[in-house]
Amino acid sequence: MPLDQAAISPMDRGFLFGDGVYEVMARVDGRVRAKSLHQQRLAASLASIQLDVSVEQIFHDVDRLIEKANLESAKIYVQVTRGAAAVRDHAFPVDVAPTVFLTISEFKVTTYGGCTAIVRPDIRWRRNSIKSVSLLGNVLLMQEAKASGAQESILFRDEYVTEASTSNVFVIRGTTLVTPPLSDLILPGITRHLVLEMAEALGITVIEQNVRVDSLADADGIFVSSSTRGLMPITELSPGGIVGHGQLTDTFLVLQSAYDERLRHHD
Ligand code: PLP
Repeated sequence: MPLDQAAISPMDRGFLFGDGVYEVMARVDGRVRAKSLHQQRLAASLASIQLDVSVEQIFHDVDRLIEKANLESAKIYVQVTRGAAAVRDHAFPVDVAPTVFLTISEFKVTTYGGCTAIVRPDIRWRRNSIKSVSLLGNVLLMQEAKASGAQESILFRDEYVTEASTSNVFVIRGTTLVTPPLSDLILPGITRHLVLEMAEALGITVIEQNVRVDSLADADGIFVSSSTRGLMPITELSPGGIVGHGQLTDTFLVLQSAYDERLRHHD
């Protein structure tokens, strides 16, 4: 239905508590990128908040939405909340149907040149592996980046890089790629997963290892990854200054073109 005809109760727990999870998928040239990985991650997010919903049914509805919208390249948003109860109570309501909200909108892939990131303490909660709609920390951190004229906010906790406000972080040292290991502290990004697969296929050494925030300044290159931004190079840090020589490294360019290729020719 048209967006202005959709209605969600103000008692919805997504609205009142941020009690829900979501996915964002990119459809490029008629293909949803890594659809089954998004489906698996949504199932994992739902299980981790004890919300019992059929992911198969949701993805069936996603297919119907895609068919109806008929957009070759699109951004697909899926949100599932614990629904609307009659009273506001923190504990889970009984016998309340979840709310499922799906949107599709036009989307164009952008190939980014050098971008700037601010580096900030990770002020978010400790369960960032859940793709929760409670994104206030991420919102504040992205706003801070925007207000500084930067495009991302790279985050650290206890001196170690976690991820960025809307993406995962990779560091290039020589021809080696280093990225923080999966843990509760970061989202298991689908693009991160694809980058690791592509790097392996290209013979690029990958190390999943904690990255000290004070080592970012001596990296040869840094990039962030997400479904909507793809691989976005960071050539300047604030604080930290120019990354490497301020140029995109060969390792990055090889990965970025492999990613573009994959986006257009594989699921
Ligand atoms: N980390 C955070 C906090 C994100 O919000 C996102 C995407 O929105 C990512 C990482 C990247 O995940 P994906 O590659 O699945 O889009």
